[in-house]
Parts: sequence; C-alpha cells; structure tokens
Amino acid sequence: MKEMKFETKVIHVGGEPDPTTGAIMPPIYQTSTYVQSSPGEHKGYEYTRSHNPTRTRLEECLASIEGANHCLVTASGLSASSLIMHMLPKGSKILCGDDVYGGTYRLFSKVFPDIHHYKFVDTTNLKNLENEISDFKPALIWLETPTNPLLKISDIKAISDLAKKVQALVVVDNTFMSPYFQNPLHHGADMVLHSMTKFINGHSDVVGGAIMMNSQELRDKLFFYQNAIGPCQSPFDSWLVLRGLKTLAVRMKAHEKNALEIASYLENHPKVEKVVYPGLKSHPQHDLAKKQMKGFGGMITFFLKGGLSESRLFLENVKLFALAESLGGVESLVDHPAIMTHASIPKEVRESLGIFDNLIRLSVGIEDVGDLKNDLEHALAKVN
Ligand SMILES: *Cc1c(COP(=O)(O)O)cnc(C)c1O
Repeated sequence: MKEMKFETKVIHVGGEPDPTTGAIMPPIYQTSTYVQSSPGEHKGYEYTRSHNPTRTRLEECLASIEGANHCLVTASGLSASSLIMHMLPKGSKILCGDDVYGGTYRLFSKVFPDIHHYKFVDTTNLKNLENEISDFKPALIWLETPTNPLLKISDIKAISDLAKKVQALVVVDNTFMSPYFQNPLHHGADMVLHSMTKFINGHSDVVGGAIMMNSQELRDKLFFYQNAIGPCQSPFDSWLVLRGLKTLAVRMKAHEKNALEIASYLENHPKVEKVVYPGLKSHPQHDLAKKQMKGFGGMITFFLKGGLSESRLFLENVKLFALAESLGGVESLVDHPAIMTHASIPKEVRESLGIFDNLIRLSVGIEDVGDLKNDLEHALAKVN
C-alpha cells in the first residue's frame, strides 16, 4: 500500500480497532501491571512505567506523522527536555537558542548547570553561530524554531550541516509548528521535541511531551532514562491525546487561516506598533519560513503602541481571547510574556531579546474569525 497521507495517518495509525472486541475506539489500558504466564513470559508489557499499550499506540502515530522511526511519549514537554539532558554525559556542552520557551531556559539555567555547560546564542545568525560552534564545540545544539514569543526562525538544514562537522546532535523543539507544518528530521535534525500540551493534543486538557528520532541508539538511551527516572504519561492522558490528534490536520489549517487574517488586521491597526507572524511578508525571515515550514501556524506576537498600562487595558478588555498561559488549544488565548510565561527570564535578558512590556502573544484558536476580530477591536478601542 502507498504511504498514507498525514490526514489519514492521524486517524488510522495506532487507531486500529481493538482486536479482542472489535471496538472501533481503542480502549484505555488503565492498568499498572500485566499478568505473566510464567516468570518472564509476557506479551511485551510488564509494568506501565515502562510500557503501556495505549501509550504505544500514541507513539506509533506520532512517529509516523513526524516522519520518524521512533517516538517516546513523556509526562510533559519539560520532562522530555530533561530526559535529553540526563542522557548526555556529565560535563557536556550545550549551545542553546537565546529565545527559547521560558521553562526550557529555567531548566537549563537553574536545574542542569551543575551537570552540563550551557551557552545561549542567537541561532538565527548563521555566521555568528558557525563561529560559536567551532569555538565552543558543543555536544548538542538546542533549537526552537519559530521561537517563543518572538517567532524568530532558525535554518534547521544549515545548522544541522554545521553540527555534523563537530559531531554535535541537533534537537528541535517543534511545539509551535506541530508535525503538520514542520518536520525537522527531514532537514537533518537528530531529535524533535514536542510539548503535546499544545497543538498536538489541542484541547487544553492534557499535559504531555514527546521526542521523535530515527536513531535506534538514541531511542534506547532515552528509553533507559525514561524508565529509570519515571516521567511516563498516564494511559488516560495518552488516550486523550490520541483522540485530540485525530483532528490535528483540520485544526492546524483552521488555526493558520484565522491567524493570517488576524495578523494582517493587526498590521493595519493604528494602535499597533508592529506585528510578528511568519506568514507576513514583513517577517524578516518570511522566505526561510516558506522554505522549511509547510505553513505558518497559529501564533502571533504584536507590540501595542505604549507600555505596561496600555497592555493591561487591552488584556483586561478582551473577552473571547482568554488571558492564560499555554497555547495551541482550539480556543483563543492571549498572554503577556513579560509578566506571565517569561517571568523566569531576568528583565535585562528579556529586554535585550526584545520582550518588552508592550509585547502581546496570541494563540489564535479556531473560532469564527469575525468574532475574534470583533473581540480584538473592542479591546483595542479601550486602549488610549
Ligand atoms: C509549553 C512548552 C514547552 C514545555 O512543555 P510542557 O508540556 O508545559 O512541559 C516546551 N517548549 C515549548 C515551545 C512550549 O510551548
């Protein structure tokens, strides 16, 4: 049979009917352990920290849509990041993008610095990065592209080529694009990481993470640490993600359609200073975005004219856009990174990156776009 398309895989890979009853929806294997017929004789499952059939189904589906040989599903996005850090030999050097998710920055700057060495650099500047790679000689390069919240884009292929020269591994945090819009392994990355909490599950009711890779050796090492440390996802949560995943393609298309319309609406609004969205021609890396991504996603960052008090007025007056951390759900959310998601980054560092008090991040949902624009219009009218 020909390789299935994305829209088919999300529904059918790992979604086979239950072989024992014919139930079209696979059951939730809500069990911690499995009966053995004789010591050591079992059906491939011994204990749910190690393996669970519901989780296995989810891993199969995610590997197939990311174009990977293997996938490990973890309890959260950050536990997936932690496993990658545990897998590296003590004293490893990690070159990390300077505009990564706030929790990633906290993990690398507050939890792991006694074990590894970190350097944060602008991974969008290739020339500069090339020098950093030859000076620092990292064992691993950590990219987030597009970044959160500035939506800066790094060239995965060019960076993977540079990394190979010094035998560094490349990890791409692909949370913002989801496997629907970007597949980093196809551009030469070694591992892809997702917070499933966001677009993959898409319904804001689960926390989870995933790592996809082609190398059996990397998979086995990561599995060892996952089993030894224990950040596995519960069968019920894996089942919920399997359910949410079925609509990933239709959701991503709808997120993008709404985001494109809202980005150009904001770009023409007199109270808005600047809009950052990879799908706008004004995005400094619009061409790179078109080259390595299959779409532009549902995240928009914009700067209001003014400062904190203008931001507060806007944020207190939106109604449909819920003021909340997180992103990627079917409902629209709005975030003030300086006070909310990125508060763990020191103010000087934040501002040197461009995360000012007038920066607002939208996670555009799949509601009616006219309703969303009306909501923004109403809140912008309250800003004086
Ligand atoms: C949310 C997020 C994470 C962390 O994932 P959790 O599931 O919250 O642990 C990592 N990277 C990015 C880009 C995120 O948005």
